[in-house]
Amino acid sequence: MIVVLSQGVSVHDKEMVRIYLKDRGFSLREQALGEDEIIAASGKGVVDIRELSLLPGVERVAATSKPYELASRETKAEDTIVSVGGAAQSTGLVKIGGSRISVIAGPCAVESREQIMETAAMVRESGAVILRGGAFKPRTSPYAFQGLGMKGLEYMKAAGEAQGMPIVTEVVSPELAVQMKDITDMFQIGARNMQNYELLKKVGSLGKPVLLKRGPSATIEEWLLSAEYLLASGTQDVVLCERGIRTFETYTRNTLDISAIPVVKALSHLPVIVDPSHAVGIRAKVSSAGLAAIAAGADGLTIEVHPRPDEALSDGPQSLYPEQFERLMRDIEALAPVVGKELLRTPLPSHGGGAHHTEILTKAGDSEERGDIPAAFSGESGAFAEQALMRVFGEEASRLRCPSFRAVFDAVLDGSAMAGIVPVENSLAGSVHENYDLFLRYPDIAIVGELKLRIVHCLIGDEKADLDTIKIVRSHPQGFAQCRDFLDKYPHWQLEACNDTATAVASIAREGATKVAAIAGEAAAKIHGLKVLRMGIETNPLNYTRFVIITRRIGDKVSVPPSLGSEPPNKASLVFSVPDTPGSLFACLKIMSERGINLSKLESRPIQGQPWRYLFYVDVNIPESEGTFDPAIEELKTKTEDFRFLGVYRGSL
Ligand code: PEP
Ligand code: MN
Repeated sequence: MIVVLSQGVSVHDKEMVRIYLKDRGFSLREQALGEDEIIAASGKGVVDIRELSLLPGVERVAATSKPYELASRETKAEDTIVSVGGAAQSTGLVKIGGSRISVIAGPCAVESREQIMETAAMVRESGAVILRGGAFKPRTSPYAFQGLGMKGLEYMKAAGEAQGMPIVTEVVSPELAVQMKDITDMFQIGARNMQNYELLKKVGSLGKPVLLKRGPSATIEEWLLSAEYLLASGTQDVVLCERGIRTFETYTRNTLDISAIPVVKALSHLPVIVDPSHAVGIRAKVSSAGLAAIAAGADGLTIEVHPRPDEALSDGPQSLYPEQFERLMRDIEALAPVVGKELLRTPLPSHGGGAHHTEILTKAGDSEERGDIPAAFSGESGAFAEQALMRVFGEEASRLRCPSFRAVFDAVLDGSAMAGIVPVENSLAGSVHENYDLFLRYPDIAIVGELKLRIVHCLIGDEKADLDTIKIVRSHPQGFAQCRDFLDKYPHWQLEACNDTATAVASIAREGATKVAAIAGEAAAKIHGLKVLRMGIETNPLNYTRFVIITRRIGDKVSVPPSLGSEPPNKASLVFSVPDTPGSLFACLKIMSERGINLSKLESRPIQGQPWRYLFYVDVNIPESEGTFDPAIEELKTKTEDFRFLGVYRGSL
């Protein structure tokens, strides 16, 4: 029986609960379970649950019908999210559980420093977020390669750090657990050791995350009882791993128990991942089994990958070639939305991509927020996004120039930028779908502000150029579309598309040609030392782009840069999907309508991987009257399927 104590329970009340339980013959253990402080009471004592529930300091009593209590969903209804790594600056924090799919990959065994370094780089490139590898290998034969031991663990740590990935490795004895504690980010309990209770108790007591493999002949209940050992010994972070069980079938190495996934997800709040490599044992069948596991609701996979599987010292036949792993990751990414999840990506270390190719443009001595940590935008110097950024953060603000919108999200996520700015909509051309999609892929990024920027296009060229010398015009396709009427007057001009308008200007600056011009903003001309040949050439002068300012969520908190002001938010951006039944969208809109909540935007986007199903992006104005908005959102959540808050912020006029 688990007694969940109220938040901030007094020492006195806690003691009274303890005495009450002890007097009735229970032995007690106190610990945390998620956010809750609990007393786990075991033994044959008898108690009146209603009476116990009414004691001061008692939030609720969970009397489970299962022999495992801490691991049971009856004790904790919400999914546990396990965090791995992140302590050292060099490895990112990886979360397992909830709406993410987290993929662990690496070789079966660490064979040499070079091998683990090479493999880590390959799996990281394809999107793995945790590096696996055995340093201590429990092998069926005593003559088989037994692993490099502590040396192997050190190599693995170095490989993880080089790629910004936490590591997980198998521990085979309580003594080694102590030695490995400060090196590994997560312990793996191997299938053979699932019922080694002394090992479970020791590893659990070290408080680190644990990946608990299911024993080859363990029932689901035995497996959950092993998880209970870990939880009862002190760790809160247990990830269950189905890796195939022994059956009469001998074609595959083991039989992947797919049905265990939905069964365990119902019985327990702990995340469940799947190891199709050891389950199937045949390289060509691993990816299909992995995808099936994701479809069945697994929170992630652990996959064996080797740069040259034929030379592997262990489990070569089941290790994927890096190209196969890359393909599998793409398939998982496509499948994830079908089961309402996202493939978790974490920022690559700065030398490996992500904020790669970024450049700090200005280092202002007195930049306001967080010293000189810049705000990120995508594009060349002089891009409209940079103009928007300077409007928000000031002309002198340090700026991080990124090669893509995605790199802006990465820079904000990994902290190399304190904020980012990305366009979401143009008044003539409509939404920038790429950024809407990125919000879904980066659940830890929030919108904290917005800015509408008037877009005035100019024809820009060399000092010596004029309209008669021009033969080629470069711009972003949007630039051409927005200046159609002007361009129609010069049908002989050849149009060349560039990634963004400022890039078009930069290319002329480099070439210095009189026959090439660009369509971009005035600022780009100034920055690149070029001349504005014609100003205001856009067809419709009412041409605005709406940018949003993004920062990182840390837990439930979102930091709002001081330059956005402290006025209360009056706008919220939400995304949701609705059941495929008549009137389901209407039911959502009705909630808003009945409460007088104004919708400023409603747009649908196809859900990737689910043809003809849509996500709705909604911007709403938050009413000033208190107590209207929050209940509306709570009700909305009951009518929607996948609901996400992109942010609550002060809208610009
Ligand atoms: C492993 O993951 O390297 C391993 C040995 O797996 P299992 O314990 O599931 O056999
Ligand atoms: Mn293996």
